[in-house]
Amino acid sequence: MRESLFKLLELQEIDKEIDILRQSQRDFPSEIEQLQNELKTARDHLDAKQNESEELEKNRRTLERDLDTVNQDLAKHQERLNEITTNREYDALQHEIEALTIRKGELESLILETIESFESITSKLEDDNTYYKEIEKERGELIKELTDKLNSVEKNVKKWEKKHAAIEPNVERRPLSLYNRIRRVVKGGVAVVSVQKNSCGGCFRQLAPQRLVEARRGDTLMRCENCGRIMVWAATEEAAA
Ligand SMILES: [Zn+2]
Repeated sequence: MRESLFKLLELQEIDKEIDILRQSQRDFPSEIEQLQNELKTARDHLDAKQNESEELEKNRRTLERDLDTVNQDLAKHQERLNEITTNREYDALQHEIEALTIRKGELESLILETIESFESITSKLEDDNTYYKEIEKERGELIKELTDKLNSVEKNVKKWEKKHAAIEPNVERRPLSLYNRIRRVVKGGVAVVSVQKNSCGGCFRQLAPQRLVEARRGDTLMRCENCGRIMVWAATEEAAA
């Protein structure tokens, strides 16, 4: 029995590794997706800013063309002032010139605003670009790492299963089936524990002296009265006892 119990501890270590690998198969895809989403959000933000700056440039060019037209109109109107003969015509022309001058002022301040907005966006764009490149590299490496691990899960599980299969025949049937049963229901998959400081290594319930003697003999299949785990008398406990 004693040998079986020690082998069970070995088996449990292997099964823990397999559990971790299986858990990663459940966890990694959503972790990868999360990282990809973070990258996409940053990329979208960058693209939006880039578009905004291009839009501002386009607006500025339109405004500048409008301003050119207004300036040309103004020049024409000024010339016509010299050809005018009546007061009525003069007043009408002056009126138009005033309107054009107001429009010119409006266009000039709009152009200035556009230039300021453009400059403020492009100066941030550089930082945004640097930030994006940093996270693209960092998240990209993480994604690759997780994907590689995910792709090798099956291969690694097989490796551990082989080790499991090599040990299993050395465990008596009764402790083995009990181990498998407990493992399915117990938290963290820990079904076998060693006795530590005269207590169950799983729930730390103190063992009665008579049970300690029994555990130390190691010739029976002993379970913790509190948590139900299989108990093994560890070599380190010999020294303490
Ligand atoms: Zn216990």
